[in-house]
Amino acid sequence: MNIKRKVQLQNYNTLSVPSVAEYFCSVNSKNELIECVNWAEKNSLPLHIIGGGSNVLLAPKITGLVIQCRINFKKIIDQDVDHIWIEVGAGENWHSLVEWTLKRQIYGLENLALIPGLVGAAPIQNIGAYGVELCEVFERLEGLKLSDKKFTSLSNKDCDFAYRDSVFKHTLKNQFIISSVVLKLKKNPCLKLIYPALQTALAQFKNPDAFDVFNAVVSLRKQKLPDPLATPNAGSFFKNPIVSCEFAAQLKQAYPDLPQYPQEDGSIKLAAAWLIDSAGWKGKEASGVEVHPKQALVLTNRAKCEVGVILAFAESIQRDIKQRFGVPLEIEPQLLGGGVLAR
Ligand SMILES: Cc1cc2nc3c(=O)[nH]c(=O)nc-3n(C[C@H](O)[C@H](O)[C@H](O)COP(=O)(O)OP(=O)(O)OC[C@H]3O[C@@H](n4cnc5c(N)ncnc54)[C@H](O)[C@@H]3O)c2cc1C
Repeated sequence: MNIKRKVQLQNYNTLSVPSVAEYFCSVNSKNELIECVNWAEKNSLPLHIIGGGSNVLLAPKITGLVIQCRINFKKIIDQDVDHIWIEVGAGENWHSLVEWTLKRQIYGLENLALIPGLVGAAPIQNIGAYGVELCEVFERLEGLKLSDKKFTSLSNKDCDFAYRDSVFKHTLKNQFIISSVVLKLKKNPCLKLIYPALQTALAQFKNPDAFDVFNAVVSLRKQKLPDPLATPNAGSFFKNPIVSCEFAAQLKQAYPDLPQYPQEDGSIKLAAAWLIDSAGWKGKEASGVEVHPKQALVLTNRAKCEVGVILAFAESIQRDIKQRFGVPLEIEPQLLGGGVLAR
């Protein structure tokens, strides 16, 4: 266990927000994870978990111990006629895992290619892209429950997955450190091509296979999203809002072009990008924080500002969208280190 003091986390988050952790430790095993948690408890320090830092907003100073879970392994643990179950350590890179499965002719993750970050964070917001969500292939996970310091297994149902949501944002918020994830994948491809942009990209193929889908997703993402290494960002900064069917109908009358996606429970998901774009925010900038000129959901932080500056800009967008359309926008990245909003 190598606990470091006063660690600068600017290179540990894709928004390049400056942030100093009072203590920081990268753990490689379940034993190290327990040791770290015990050490924090003995020193009465709050705990924070970071993965690849692609969906977090870091406070300028983080009191306590920041743990990065780097438990790395990937293995096939079971199979039947149609399925293969794999167990993956929380520290594995998500995109490398997608490549690893495809190389072994294991299918189901191709639509989720090129999502930044580590495997341990994927269940937190039930990552999703191009018509597929993690919950569709997720079997169970294992992690350390902080209330009793026992490694516990949680099933798909236990995780209470929803759109960009899970139990880890609610009753288990800051209460559970994921150490590994088990996915149930397929031996034969079962392509999911409902997403219109993916259909267009694959139109040239007579019979696209899983590799074509993977390549199309990678290429679409490279065209549409700024690379965090060149332009600091955290992907979508706002979640697509979900509203009642009645309210969606009113909006449709006033704004016939607003894309609406019916959900299984009867509610309607609205395209946040459309709302932000039609309110004229695309390309707008304040203090070096900008709404990306090509993708209205993405805020970029070229000036490497502190999180307070980004949040102030985001709040002005939220206020404007609420005033114009009556729709509240929720911020997608998770705050780490607290106290920031009180600035
Ligand atoms: C360019 C770009 C594109 C993106 N596109 C998408 C997309 O298409 N779809 C999508 O869903 N997301 C997308 N994201 C968001 C992000 O990639 C995902 O949310 C990803 O799962 C975050 O992984 P991470 O390891 O970086 O997590 P972090 O940002 O480090 O952490 C995110 C949250 O998970 C918690 N956490 C991390 N690891 C653990 C662990 N082991 N145990 C418990 N809690 C943990 C953290 O405390 C924090 O609350 C994008 C981000 C970027 C920058």
